[in-house]
Amino acid sequence: MKMFFLFPILAHSISLCLIGPNPPILYSLIQTAVYNWQLYAPISVQDCPLNTEGLNTINLNVRNPQHPGLTRFRSDGTTHIEIDSHSIGFLGNIYNVMLHELGHTLGLKHPQPPNDSIMSYQLQYNVLTNEYYPDPYHVIHPYTIPAFQSNSSLNAELGLSFG
Ligand SMILES: [Zn+2]
Repeated sequence: MKMFFLFPILAHSISLCLIGPNPPILYSLIQTAVYNWQLYAPISVQDCPLNTEGLNTINLNVRNPQHPGLTRFRSDGTTHIEIDSHSIGFLGNIYNVMLHELGHTLGLKHPQPPNDSIMSYQLQYNVLTNEYYPDPYHVIHPYTIPAFQSNSSLNAELGLSFG
């Protein structure tokens, strides 16, 4: 018998644009990360127009080795993912950071206490394996969902950044 596990669908939805150009592999990774989140919430990513004013953006070329991934909620209501894909190096880690930051755009925070979900900050980097997570393709699971914050808590965090 096949088992199905139902997850709560996140109420928050978001549409972001990807600032380009980027190497083809990065487009593929973003697309895969978005497909994974689309199981849980309405989320979409398309290429950015020349003028990104007022849009939610993803920039994969931000140099910030101390914080390889960052999601900023600006006071104008827009959300901006910044990823230092050059410093992260390993593509699996870039993918995990993408998943993690996209989760922030949906209102997910770092779960307390930490667990093994993609949103847990504690497991983001393993010095022994030099990887962020042991299995990058099975990281969105029920542990991820309880970290969801309502839209009202999201509004209270405008202007803040999440690593
Ligand atoms: Zn984070």
